Amino acid sequence: MRFVHDTLPQRVRFGSGEAAAGLRDEIGRLGADRVMLIASKSAMPVADEITADVPVALRHDEVVMHVPVEVARRAREAAARSAVDALVSVGGGSATGLAKAVAMTSGLPIVAVPTTYAGSEATPVWGLTEGARKTTGTDPAVLPKVIVYDAALTASLPVELSVASGLNALAHCVDAMWAPNADPINAALAAEGIKSLAAGLPRVVADPGGLEGREPVLYAAYLSAAAFASAGSALHHKICHVLGGKYNLPHAQTHAIVLPYVLAFNGPAAPDAERRIAAAFGADTAIGGLQALRARLQAPRALRDYGLAEESIAEAADAILPSVPPSNPRPVSAENLRALLRAAWSGADPVGG
Ligand code: NAD
Repeated sequence: MRFVHDTLPQRVRFGSGEAAAGLRDEIGRLGADRVMLIASKSAMPVADEITADVPVALRHDEVVMHVPVEVARRAREAAARSAVDALVSVGGGSATGLAKAVAMTSGLPIVAVPTTYAGSEATPVWGLTEGARKTTGTDPAVLPKVIVYDAALTASLPVELSVASGLNALAHCVDAMWAPNADPINAALAAEGIKSLAAGLPRVVADPGGLEGREPVLYAAYLSAAAFASAGSALHHKICHVLGGKYNLPHAQTHAIVLPYVLAFNGPAAPDAERRIAAAFGADTAIGGLQALRARLQAPRALRDYGLAEESIAEAADAILPSVPPSNPRPVSAENLRALLRAAWSGADPVGG
């Protein structure tokens, strides 16, 4: 065994119903006294509640998916005008992403309170969108200093979105198995993430308001993101990155739909990953485990249902191809990528396909 693994410096708090107390303690530890609170309009009431004991100097609610550059610019200017000394984000990947955009240019520390399973809070990856082009990069300055996980805050996430977001986390785990910096440590995190998602997601569907499903899924969201942050971006993420940025498809649903096609494509060429994923699902094959879970969850099936036009498939394949890591277990060509996208577009059986 031989590998080099970076572990990211981050404090992780987990406690249901404890976000307010956690935030008060963590802001105190940072010694911050002018906090910028970032939350969408719909998340602001909850954000106000859990920051009641935090010195909030600025409340910023312009949160937009994929962080358009002008939205980032306005948030950065507002932060500078108010001379804030820390950022608290409350929300999904879009709110965390905006806090990252501010941290990127200001160096301000972020305390992230996630309310979805996107996992952005555990990665040093930022994303900005200009027109139809999404740019991402890695910068240690944008990694939140602290994550405050409170599963009770995720209880309001609608079931359909919970499923899509949970499968987004699952995609981090699966892609981490063959990403350019895959190693035994991030594979172990990913395998535990898959196990926890497979156990938790059906419980979320059965009882969306209960913590029995919400806690393991939120825990898995962290594991998945930590695995992904360490292993790097692989075929699945390269595909979804282009689809999200270029065609404005919804992030979590796009991941949920594309994942089985990537797993069916790569799995047979990556026997070790295949074995680990299957074992984590407790299934005979990785794709069998994923599809059984997706069936239980009534997961989203086809990209055409989310606005991708059939005519865009060839163009999308051309845009994705140059970014596919050379280490992908199976060679990727424009032709097999188009076939994969066409199957995901129509919702065809990923195996029989
Ligand atoms: P999101 O943050 O846009 O949230 C999706 C929707 O769910 C929104 O309408 C939001 O208001 C609502 N919502 C969120 N939490 C809720 C709750 N608890 N109850 C009720 N409604 C709630 O979507 P997302 O999937 O969390 O994040 C997607 C974004 O994050 C994308 O821009 C993606 O690129 C980015 N992302 C980045 C990374 C990274 O490492 N940088 C990782 C994952 C995702």
